[in-house]
Parts: sequence; C-alpha cells; structure tokens
Amino acid sequence: MSGLLEGRSAVVTGAAQGIGLAIATALAEHGARVTLADLDGDKAAAAAAGIGPQARGVACDVTSEDSVAELIAGAAAAYDGLDVLVNNAGITRDASLRKMTLADFQAVVTVHLQGTWLALRAASEVMREQKRGSIVNISSMSGKVGNPGQTNYSAAKAGIVGMTKAAAKELAHHGVRVNAIQPGLIRTPMTEAMSAEAYAATEATIPMRRAGEPAEIANVVAFLASDLSSYMTGSVLEVSGGRGM
Ligand code: NAD
Repeated sequence: MSGLLEGRSAVVTGAAQGIGLAIATALAEHGARVTLADLDGDKAAAAAAGIGPQARGVACDVTSEDSVAELIAGAAAAYDGLDVLVNNAGITRDASLRKMTLADFQAVVTVHLQGTWLALRAASEVMREQKRGSIVNISSMSGKVGNPGQTNYSAAKAGIVGMTKAAAKELAHHGVRVNAIQPGLIRTPMTEAMSAEAYAATEATIPMRRAGEPAEIANVVAFLASDLSSYMTGSVLEVSGGRGM
C-alpha cells in the first residue's frame, strides 16, 4: 500500500513523540511529505530527520493564532499546498473535581479545542481553494464515555466530535473531508505517566486485553487521510480494542 498518499502534503501537530510521531511516520511511509509540528521544535526537527528527507520539523504552539497561521502557510509553501491535516497535539491535567483548578481546566480545553479549531480553520482555507483535503481530529474514548478525573479532558474531547461534524457539513461541498478518531488506551509517554496499577486496571477492561500501539492509530489516520475513505466525512472511528463500544 505504499503510494497511498504519494506526493500529498501533510501536517501533523504534536508530532515530536507518541501517537503524533507514529502518524507522521505512517503518512511518510505511504508517500506523503510531512510537516511535524510541536511545542518542542528541536524535538520535532529531530523526529523529522529520523523519518527522512520527505519530512520537516517545526516549532508550533497550537493555542496561538499566529503560530498556527505560520505553520499552515509554511507547510503549504514547502510542499506545494496542503492535502492532510492531523490535529493530534494534546495534554492532560487529570484531577478530581475537588482538586482540579480553573487553570487545569482552561489549559486542557485551550490546547484541544482552541488548538484544533485554529488549525482546522487555517487548513480549510487552503484546502477549499484546492477543492481537496482531509482533516483528521484526534478525540478520545474519554470524550465518549467520560473518565473520572478527566472532566476537563472528556469535555474537550467530546467538543472535538461536535467540531468535526460541524466542519464536515460546512466543507463537504468544497471537497474537504473532516473525520475524527477516538483512541482507547495507547502506549505513549502520556499514558506511561499513569501508575502501574491504574494502567493494569484499565487494560483489564479492554475486550482485546491489551493497550494499543501508536502505529495502530496511525494506520487508521492513513486510511482517513487517503482516498480509500473518499465517501467518509463527519465520521468518528473508535480505535480502542473494543473498550467503550
Ligand atoms: P504525548 O504527550 O505523548 O504527545 C503529545 C505531543 O503534543 C507532545 O509532543 C507535546 O509536546 C505536544 N503538544 C502539547 N501541547 C502542544 C501545543 N500547545 N502545541 C503543539 N504541540 C503540543 O501524547 P499522546 O499519547 O501521543 O497523545 C496524542 C493525542 O492522542 C492527544 O490528543 C491525546 O489526547 C490523544 N489520545 C491519547 C490516548 C493515549 O492513550 N495515549 C488516548 C486517546 C487520545
């Protein structure tokens, strides 16, 4: 299936590590030229160098309107337009309602909702002119079922679903598709921060009895980014080993 994304220009946010890096790697393996964007620009550049000459790494804070505008314009200039955007950058600030601060709530909502919206808006401007594009937003099963300790994160990830569907309806007749993925428990630096007990307890609730690997999310992104999913827009795909179905 190499060549699935031959010559396409893709941007992945939060791509210096974890799921974002796996997504950027998979898109490049399928032939795309990929811009890896991350708060940590040096790490994004190193990650891009690891992928090869068809990738570039840049610093970007998805919460900043100027930074996102620069990201999208730079990617479009470097790789002749923009065909794929993956909104993947994310953070957690888990705490019970009794302990969560307003700052914890605002930080999570700002990165996920404002960040996704800013990149969606900027990328769709380019894509509607081209009359072609695929945007993939990374939500979470936490946004479907709600996780205790994640009132901020669950709200933000559910919000991404509504944003995906609204944008899909606005952009469909311009040839731009917008879909979302809800990963379950995936082994990354984000989840390695969980206690061993919490991790094992979560794994035990998964019908497939294991956490997913970042590449198992990346493969679904490659499908949504490519013409294999040409009649799909506004869809929300659960990639969770059966958890939360
Ligand atoms: P991670 O913490 O390993 O990586 C996230 C990356 O996003 C980091 O490189 C970080 O620097 C970057 N980032 C954070 N804030 C940013 C900002 N303002 N601007 C640009 N980049 C920023 O996380 P991950 O586990 O790879 O998660 C990736 C995405 O998948 C997130 O949206 C996360 O919510 C979602 N997700 C993860 C899981 C999981 O189990 N790991 C499950 C469901 C959804």
